[in-house]
Amino acid sequence: MHELSVCQALLAQVAAVARAHDAQGVRAVRLRVGPLSGVEVSLLKQAYPVASAGTLAESSELLIELAPIRVKCETCGAESEAQPNRLLCARCGDDHTRLMSGDELMLMSVELVI
Ligand SMILES: [Zn+2]
Repeated sequence: MHELSVCQALLAQVAAVARAHDAQGVRAVRLRVGPLSGVEVSLLKQAYPVASAGTLAESSELLIELAPIRVKCETCGAESEAQPNRLLCARCGDDHTRLMSGDELMLMSVELVI
């Protein structure tokens, strides 16, 4: 499962943060996920307890914030929200858009037990 390796990579980052602060444990992990990140949020939530078992982050809460899809139009310059399968400019309808947000998978914050 792809999401399990995503979780393991995420937990490696979390462990580095926890070590840097001499933490006893991890209470919560906040993640920002875009619909185009290629990660299924429900699978990520399932994989998290498995991946975090036996680590400092065991029994911590995984909080997921969904990022909107935003595009910038190369034709009219407008920034707008778009649908995953239709990255069109909301102002002029052009498809020459650049993705500004929506494909991220970002560790936002880690709540530590010190
Ligand atoms: Zn446009």
